[in-house]
Amino acid sequence: MWATALAFLNAGDRDDAHLVASVLVVEADGRVLLARHRRYGQWGPVGGHVESGDASLSDAAARELTEESALVARVHPAPIDVHLSTYRCRTTTEPVLHLDVLFAAIVAGPTPDLVANEELADLEWFDPNVLPFPLTPDAAELITFAAATLQR
Ligand SMILES: [Zn+2]
Repeated sequence: MWATALAFLNAGDRDDAHLVASVLVVEADGRVLLARHRRYGQWGPVGGHVESGDASLSDAAARELTEESALVARVHPAPIDVHLSTYRCRTTTEPVLHLDVLFAAIVAGPTPDLVANEELADLEWFDPNVLPFPLTPDAAELITFAAATLQR
């Protein structure tokens, strides 16, 4: 299935479809990292477009995390969700199909200070029982699933 999806998208080489890698990061106390994106105004996973130098989708997720938050986390290799949606991103003037592959990751040890980059309006750790509003679609279920995946 992945090979088919990637072949369809030609690993980001097409201009009519974009491949996105995102990550839900959980820290030692169970809090989850969420970003509020300037463009969309909703709280959700950190992520961005896969680039040709990324060795894998999970590597792309780890790179995006470090670029957007200065955090380094251990990304679980199995994706937890795949989502297709059409929207206009910063590289296009028209809405484009995006295949967004979501991963779970864990930060071990003390949680470092967060440093959000300019694409994000906010970046914070949240108790999974006290999540912010508005959330991206399905975020609450995906956070529960990410935590369960990391405990396996
Ligand atoms: Zn895009």
